[in-house]
Amino acid sequence: MELGVAILLVIGLAVFTVTPLLAPDGPSEDALPIDVTPLADLKRRRMVVYENIKDLEFEYKAGKVSNEDYNTLRENHLAEAAQLMLASQEQEEITEHDLMIERQVAERRAQKKARHPDPYVCPECEFENPLPVKFCGNCGKELPKRTRGK
Ligand SMILES: [Zn+2]
Repeated sequence: MELGVAILLVIGLAVFTVTPLLAPDGPSEDALPIDVTPLADLKRRRMVVYENIKDLEFEYKAGKVSNEDYNTLRENHLAEAAQLMLASQEQEEITEHDLMIERQVAERRAQKKARHPDPYVCPECEFENPLPVKFCGNCGKELPKRTRGK
């Protein structure tokens, strides 16, 4: 008899411990690891919503949820999933955009360097003198001495 009670107690405790993780609201925001990226976080939350939808369908088929509740909850879950999907798409676009800009900047720098391997840029007017000159070819200002062999 006592063993049976002990087993029930252990099972009850296990269910109690696991239940918060299965709650429809998902794990609390505070419990998130700090090093997770916004995109990874959005994807994880989307997976949680999909799990909730699966659970809901399972319970509905088992007759535990009424028609009305099922429709309302399902709609809520789908709306949340759509919202998360939109948010993660925006996040992906930002990342892609950032990478595109970085590539363009690197390309332009490389092009500029190829055109002017060692330009004698005037600090006054920013004219790029093609030859090592003492005075700027554009504004005539004396150029600072360049250190050779950079
Ligand atoms: Zn100049």
